[in-house]
Amino acid sequence: MPRPIHATIHPAALRHNLASLSRAVPDAKVWAVVKANAYGHGIERVFEALAGADGFALLDLDEAQRVRTLGWRGPVLLLEGVFEPRDLELCSRLNLWHTVHCDEQIDMLAAHKTNVPQRVFLKMNSGMNRLGFTPERYRSAWTRLNALSQVDEISLMTHFSDADGPKGIAGQVAVFAHATQDLPGERSFSNSGAILRHPGVVSDWVRAGIALYGGAADFPLHNAADWGLLPAMTLTTKLIATQSLLTGYSVGYGSSFTAEAPLRIGVAACGYADGYPRHCSTGTPILVNGVRTRVVGRVSMDMVTVDLTPVPDAGMGSEVTLWGQSSLGTVLSIDEVAQAGGTVGYELMCALAQRVPVTAATAC
Ligand SMILES: *Cc1c(COP(=O)(O)O)cnc(C)c1O
Repeated sequence: MPRPIHATIHPAALRHNLASLSRAVPDAKVWAVVKANAYGHGIERVFEALAGADGFALLDLDEAQRVRTLGWRGPVLLLEGVFEPRDLELCSRLNLWHTVHCDEQIDMLAAHKTNVPQRVFLKMNSGMNRLGFTPERYRSAWTRLNALSQVDEISLMTHFSDADGPKGIAGQVAVFAHATQDLPGERSFSNSGAILRHPGVVSDWVRAGIALYGGAADFPLHNAADWGLLPAMTLTTKLIATQSLLTGYSVGYGSSFTAEAPLRIGVAACGYADGYPRHCSTGTPILVNGVRTRVVGRVSMDMVTVDLTPVPDAGMGSEVTLWGQSSLGTVLSIDEVAQAGGTVGYELMCALAQRVPVTAATAC
């Protein structure tokens, strides 16, 4: 028998989240961001549920190919653009739109032989300081692109560094607006944080990632429920043993947890080799039979130990929900688990390990 661990993807939750985001910015077209294999959910598994989006945005050409193979004929955007000249051939062949964020990418386009001009998204560095042309250099990049026969429509984009935090986006919006004042073309800004927190900042194309998957971009300020989002991934396993600790007994590597009173614990079949963070040690929330309890001791490669005090009837075979929704309906948000491990929901989703079998739920 395989280990009892498995992940479930909830297409109904993806549909629900996409609809909520679209409602938040009714005048915008929505890119469903499916980079990193749809944030660990699997492009093939999310495709149908997200096919109501206006386009798919991603980074890997391989992933773009997969979206086309699934039959998607609408827009596909490469968020980092091309990495080398021959990528442009694939852009022509698969009709991919691509980001242009540096002079080298313009050089590649200028040298590209094609009869079909390509649609590009010219990226401005409006303060994030990762990718894009500075506001001062943006217009000359636009002029250069506009003169190329290889280029069709030019859209204008930027990315926010603080959509989810107190600094906000107003500064970057102002920089962008000033530098692009009379340039034609569609605009694209907002990530999930900006869509939810700043829906009044409107662009033609928003780029929704984490919120589609049910993550709150601005946790712990808000949680997924506050935004009306449902978890698109559940990670479930079972108890494979129980132990009774006497006062003073400890559990696991490094004896990092010691019982201060007699304590019954369960051993769940999930460890860091499954993508459950090793930093999620004592205190991390976890559900047993749908009841909220806590991890005790260190997470090891294949096992995690849990306090069974609130679930005295739990035993071997009891359901353990690491994140997502228990079969009784209780929800444990991935953001909360991530926070206990010093990280964010994004990382947990993306880090789901290869060895965990994944299935799609038929109902939500
Ligand atoms: C990943 C990404 C997004 C989506 O961000 P979320 O916070 O997941 O919504 C949007 N835009 C760009 C350029 C990205 O790389």
